[in-house]
Amino acid sequence: MTTAIKRVVIAGGGTAGWMAAAALTKLMGKHLEIVLVESDEIGTVGVGEATIPTLHIFHRLLGLKEQEVMAATNATFKLGISFENWQDINKNYLHSFGFLGKDCWACGFQHFWLKGKQLGMVSEIGDYCAEHLAARQGRFAVLPNQDYNHAYHMDASLYAKYLRKMAEQHGIHRIEGKIKQVLQHHDSGNIKALVLENDETIEGDLFIDCTGFRALLIEQTLNTGFEDWSHYLPCDSAIAVQTQSVGAPIPYTRSIARDSGWQWRIPLQNRTGNGLVFCSKFISDEDATELLLANLEGEPLNKPRVIKFKTGTRRLHWHKNCVAVGLSGGFLEPLESTSIHLIQRSIIRLMQLFPSAGIVQSDIDEFNQQTKLEMDNIRDFIILHYKATEREDSRFWRYCKNMEIPASLKHRIEMFADSGKVYKYGSELFGESSWIQVMMGQGIMPKHYHPIVDVMEEPELEAFLNNIKSTVKRKVESLPAHIDFIQHYCPAE
Ligand code: FAD
Repeated sequence: MTTAIKRVVIAGGGTAGWMAAAALTKLMGKHLEIVLVESDEIGTVGVGEATIPTLHIFHRLLGLKEQEVMAATNATFKLGISFENWQDINKNYLHSFGFLGKDCWACGFQHFWLKGKQLGMVSEIGDYCAEHLAARQGRFAVLPNQDYNHAYHMDASLYAKYLRKMAEQHGIHRIEGKIKQVLQHHDSGNIKALVLENDETIEGDLFIDCTGFRALLIEQTLNTGFEDWSHYLPCDSAIAVQTQSVGAPIPYTRSIARDSGWQWRIPLQNRTGNGLVFCSKFISDEDATELLLANLEGEPLNKPRVIKFKTGTRRLHWHKNCVAVGLSGGFLEPLESTSIHLIQRSIIRLMQLFPSAGIVQSDIDEFNQQTKLEMDNIRDFIILHYKATEREDSRFWRYCKNMEIPASLKHRIEMFADSGKVYKYGSELFGESSWIQVMMGQGIMPKHYHPIVDVMEEPELEAFLNNIKSTVKRKVESLPAHIDFIQHYCPAE
């Protein structure tokens, strides 16, 4: 186990493979020989177009320029997700990436807002958050003195192509071919080499499994095991189709709940990505396709494609000399667009723990522990959207409303409902503002606010709340329309 790592083999060239390749060649290419194998015949999963703001970290690390990446990927800005019909039919809310109110008191802004609500002095909580209001008004700009928390909607295949170009400039060795066999060392069980259909053998010291749902190395070869979460996240299928754009792109993703799942609409500069995520126990592929096609805004540009998946996580993401990155490591369903984030986290974590002098168990354990914590937290946040529904109009929603949930999530919901408190677990991805927007958006209203709020007399509280709201309003009204800003800042190439 203690051979120095000189040669890294990346199996798979989807978003995960090319993100790993770009990062490793750029930052560690001087010390490593890096090879990527991908199969044109198999292709990629071909979805994954909505991101979250953490992607900036990855781009900064790689020295990528926002305008250039956006122009190359037909990207638009994303300030959050509109959840429609989730709490109940015709009840909508927005989960924006911004912070609510001001972060300057011993208790969260929601407590001030809750007291203001009791006194009839507030409007909806999103009015106290610039990203939230900007999304609703369809405005956006990147300004030197105002940093909005934003992400992107982008063409995933163009993004992989862009990263491939970068990895090639930094010396990646790309091999096209289908892996037919994975060879292991007899003594350790470590992976020794990949054998392609043309019998070419690709040896390596460390293997990164980016083979998507196939998980060719981490599961099919190393049998690492899978923790199935489909009892919490029952959707197991998706149908994806692209359509012509209708109107100017909005700066948020739409997630529209349907009888047995939900539909996404992701606006790019040149087209819209659409899909229906559903549970096959409650609707057939044929009926789901019909439902999706009946609810499109523009003309379809391709044939609808069915994708099957199982929600859950690999029991170990790093096992022996193999690290799973991307869908090979598990999938939480795309509701909060967290997969690309998890890819970048795994890549950064691997680089931080990189076993240059040889693989040691302490690095493996740390990697697996951090990954598990991260997946568990995101899982809970996604389950919340399903569990906290009031819908009883279909078998699917009745199942979600009544299903068992992890104790960790149950505790968070109860705590918020009782006293409006939200606690963050370590450095988890979704912060207080996200939990509040989704919990309130789904109809969970705290019974009490924190007594610290009573330090303010009523007129002071009213002035405090009005001041935040009017500052947000002024800021947002000074922004251009999202489409106007895109056309000047990053028009598609
Ligand atoms: P893939 O794209 O499947 O790539 C696998 C690669 O492995 C391919 O290059 C393939 O050719 C290669 N390969 C496989 N087997 C072999 C073999 N035998 N020989 C050689 N090569 C092989 N994520 C987000 O962040 N935001 C979203 O909005 C989002 N939406 C999604 C919607 C749906 C319905 C689904 C299913 C996923 C979504 N995701 C989303 C997840 C996102 O699509 C993936 O995380 C991302 O595309 C990375 O996939 P991947 O590279 O792991 O796998």
